[in-house]
Amino acid sequence: METYEIDAVVERQKRYYLTGETRPVPFRRAQLAKLREALLRFEPELLAALRQDLNKSEQEAYTTEIGIVLTELRIALRHVRRWSKPDKVRTPLTHFGASSRIVPEPYGTTLVIGPWNYPVNLMLVPVVSAIAAGNTIVMKPSEMAPATSRVLATLVRETFRPEYVALIEGEASVSTELLKRPFDHIFFTGSPQVGRIVMEAAAKRLIPVTLELGGKSPCIVHNDACLALAAKRLVYGKLTNAGQTCVAPDYLLVHKEAKAALYKEIESVVEAFYGKEPLRDPDYGRIVNERHYRRLLEYLKDGRIAYGGQTDDAALKIAPTLLEGVSSASGAMREEIFGPILPVLEYETLDELLAIIRENPKPLALYVFSENKRFQQDIIREVPFGGGCVNDTLMHLGTPYLPFGGVGTSGIGSYHGEHGFRTFSHYKSVLKQTSRFDFPFRYPKAKNGLTII
Ligand code: NAD
Repeated sequence: METYEIDAVVERQKRYYLTGETRPVPFRRAQLAKLREALLRFEPELLAALRQDLNKSEQEAYTTEIGIVLTELRIALRHVRRWSKPDKVRTPLTHFGASSRIVPEPYGTTLVIGPWNYPVNLMLVPVVSAIAAGNTIVMKPSEMAPATSRVLATLVRETFRPEYVALIEGEASVSTELLKRPFDHIFFTGSPQVGRIVMEAAAKRLIPVTLELGGKSPCIVHNDACLALAAKRLVYGKLTNAGQTCVAPDYLLVHKEAKAALYKEIESVVEAFYGKEPLRDPDYGRIVNERHYRRLLEYLKDGRIAYGGQTDDAALKIAPTLLEGVSSASGAMREEIFGPILPVLEYETLDELLAIIRENPKPLALYVFSENKRFQQDIIREVPFGGGCVNDTLMHLGTPYLPFGGVGTSGIGSYHGEHGFRTFSHYKSVLKQTSRFDFPFRYPKAKNGLTII
C-alpha cells in the first residue's frame, strides 16, 4: 500500500470517529455480533490457513486461537453495557455540593500490530476490546503468517467498512509507515526489540501504547511436585505451536532430587502426545521459517542433548529436546528460545533458584509446580512476572477474567475481558459542582470563612 493510501485510511477513520457513530453501546454490540458471525463463517478458511502457515492441528487452532476469540466476544457482548457506564465515586467534604464521575471514553483511532505465532488470536482479541470500547481500528497482521493474514484481510473487508475497521497487510515497512500516523492509541504484540521501536515512534507524538512482548519464562518443578502431572502440563505448554508461544515455558528449573524422575515422565508424555518419532507426527508443529529454524539449531550447540535433538531441514521441524549443561552466558539462556528446545537447570535452594531467574529481565510468565503452599508463595512474592500458573502452564491466558500482559521488558499494560476494554479507553474524571451556592474559603482574601463577594 502506498503511503498516501495509508494516510487516506487513517484520515477517513479519524473523520468517521468524529461522527460519534462508534460510541453508542448498541452500535458496539452490533459490531461484536457481526465479528462473531464472520469468525464462525470464516472458521474453515482460518483453520486451513493456520495449518498452512504453522502446521497447527484443528484442535490446537481452535483451542488456542478461534475459541479464545469467541470467548472474548461472548464476555464483551454480555458486559459491554456495564463496562461503558460512568462510575459514580465519592466526593470529599472540601468539595461540598459537587458530584464526581469517571466516564470511560474511547481513545479514538487505534492501531493494532500483531505477530505471526497466534495470528488470529493476537489480532482479533485486541480488536474485540477496541470495538467494545468504541474505537475505530487499523490492523496490521504479521507478514510471516501470510495465509492467515490474507484470510483475515478478507474477513475484515467483508465485515466492516474501512473507515471503521481496516486491515493493512504487508512487511515491517508498512508498520514503520503506520507508526508515523497520528493514532490515538497503539496496541503492539511482538518482540521486545520491535516493542522499543514502536514506543520510540509513539513517543514522538506522545501516543499511549500497550506493548505485549516476550522474554524468558521459567518453569519450576520442585521436589514435592506431582511429577506425572507436571510433565504432562509442561510438555503441553512447551510443545503447543512447537514452542512458538510467548508464554511457553522457556527453560526448566528442576530440583536436583526430582530431575531423573521428571525426565522419565517427560519422555513418556512426549511419546503419548506425538509418538516415538515426533518429527513424523502430522500434528507436531513446525518452525515458522528457515531463519528461525537456523536460529534454533544454534541453541542445540549451547549444551548437551539429554533427550531429543533430531531435526528435519525440509519440514523445518525440531524434535522436543532437553538441553543440559547450558551456561548462563549462552544464547540459549540469554535469548527467548521460541521453539521446542528446553534448557534444564538444577537447583537445591530457593536462593539458587532466584539467582538464576534474576539473571534475565522480568519474564512474561512463570510456572511453579509444587504441593508446598509456602514454596509457591515464596516464588510468587520474590519473582516479578507478567502472569503465570501454579501447577499448570499457559492456562492463565485462556481466561477472560485475568489481565494478560507483561512487566518490564516483557510488556506494558494488559488486556482480556474487562481489562481489554479498560486498555482501549481513557477514563475521564468529571467533577460537577452545584451553582446553587458557593463557599468562599478557597478564594483569595477570604477571611474566617466570610463571604467576600
Ligand atoms: P516481531 O516483533 O518481529 O513482529 C511483530 C510485528 O511487528 C509484525 O507485524 C511485524 O511486521 C512488525 N515489525 C517487525 N519489525 C518491525 C519494525 N522494525 N518496525 C515496525 N514494525 C515491525 O515479533 P514476531 O517475531 O512476530 O513474534 C515473536 C515475538 O513476539 C516474541 O518475542 C514473542 O514472545 C512475542 N509475543 C508476545 C506475545 C504477548 O502476548 N506478550 C504474544 C505473541 C508473541
